[in-house]
Amino acid sequence: MSRYVATLMVVLVGFSGSAQRLELAEGVKPYVRTSAPVIALTNVRVIDGTGAPARERQTLIVRDGMIADVGDSSAVTLPAGAEVMDFTGKSVMPGLVMVHEHFYYPTGPGVYGQLGESFTRLYLAGGVTTLRTGGNLNGYMDLNLKRAVEAGEKPGPAIDATAPYVNGRNQFQQMTTVTTGEEARQHVSYWAGQGATSFKAYMQISRAALGATIEEAHKRGLKVTGHLCSVTYGEAADLGIDNLEHGFLAATDFVTDKQPDTCPTQGRGQQALASIDENETAFNTLVQKLIEKRVALTSTLTVFETFTPGRPMPPGLDVLAPSLKQQFEQTHARVAQNTASPYIKLFPKALALERAFVRAGGTLIAGTDPTGAGGVIPGYANQRQIELLVEAGFTPLEAIRIGTLNGAMYLGREKSIGSIVAGKQADLIVIAGDPSAAIADLRKVELVFRRGVGFDPAKLVASVAGKVGLF
Ligand SMILES: [Zn+2]
Repeated sequence: MSRYVATLMVVLVGFSGSAQRLELAEGVKPYVRTSAPVIALTNVRVIDGTGAPARERQTLIVRDGMIADVGDSSAVTLPAGAEVMDFTGKSVMPGLVMVHEHFYYPTGPGVYGQLGESFTRLYLAGGVTTLRTGGNLNGYMDLNLKRAVEAGEKPGPAIDATAPYVNGRNQFQQMTTVTTGEEARQHVSYWAGQGATSFKAYMQISRAALGATIEEAHKRGLKVTGHLCSVTYGEAADLGIDNLEHGFLAATDFVTDKQPDTCPTQGRGQQALASIDENETAFNTLVQKLIEKRVALTSTLTVFETFTPGRPMPPGLDVLAPSLKQQFEQTHARVAQNTASPYIKLFPKALALERAFVRAGGTLIAGTDPTGAGGVIPGYANQRQIELLVEAGFTPLEAIRIGTLNGAMYLGREKSIGSIVAGKQADLIVIAGDPSAAIADLRKVELVFRRGVGFDPAKLVASVAGKVGLF
């Protein structure tokens, strides 16, 4: 691009005020509470997403989809014609940026129902303004939803869309098989061409196929994550992977007779992990390697909580179709009775190891993983995931940062999203409470702004209530 064109573009962007604000299709408007070009959020508590303490009595100006100004209410001038929303006693924070999301849900034996239509609404209603899908089982839906949301044709968060999983020979009806490096390269090349912006390797992949996937994705500036088993965390870090899913609970590094390129079962990996603690040399050696190789770790405590006896019923079940709700309630009762469950020991261990990883300097990001045996409900689970980080020993402000700015930094989008500062996109959530003091207040999301448009969570939820599982 010539310098002249670049300068011209800066000038044009500078003057075209509506460049950033989301344009809305008719079908989206019923979910919108405000789409005024200039909005002033007054007398509000600002939790900026960086981990800095909350600031009281602030005024935040949204103009054309961007945060135009933020500061003490006494110092910020209200622009003429602004729609003024007084949020005394309430909080505003960045929209959640979460990275292990899916548009599918277990609906029957071996079958994952494709629920992009309801899930995009539920994620947005729960305060998620940007998400990465962590693997897809549908082919094109994630990509098409990404475009539709960006074009304002559907309500939903911005989507970093993964390609279908990259996996070796496996038992899943909805997953392909990639055995060689060459096949992996073809997979990446094809799906990147179709618009996929990230890749997810799965449990049966070989080192050769994983290495080729990473190389081919990195050539295009795209990232690779993995829910691994056949390849250890240490091996994947050496191959250059960007991210590992499920904290340490998918690591097979500690299985003593681990065979290369073979998944010894996830259970054996977890059994080995159960006898390790955060002071162990083997664990700390792995942590140091992940930090050195800049591998981020995704916390998905929500899905593991549903496997663990004695845990509360997860939030949001009422939106499910009645048969799915009943199905999960039976699962929850069965889990509660399993006094021999390995998760009794593993779940608290997962929390402790993630905290140790961060205290050692590792990058933790967050997601929910709405799979397992059900019960992880988009939107609701994202709030729960932040609560569980607080249970793990992070302060509410640290947990909020993990679910906002850390996610944005991982996605390479921290210049435009992830924290509250003038000049960033107005992706914001307004909360009727103070989650910096009481993290459960995060459940009281009152309004969700995406690119300056204020969506009504209650209307989004009402549009799918009792039908999640059908679409
Ligand atoms: Zn997943």
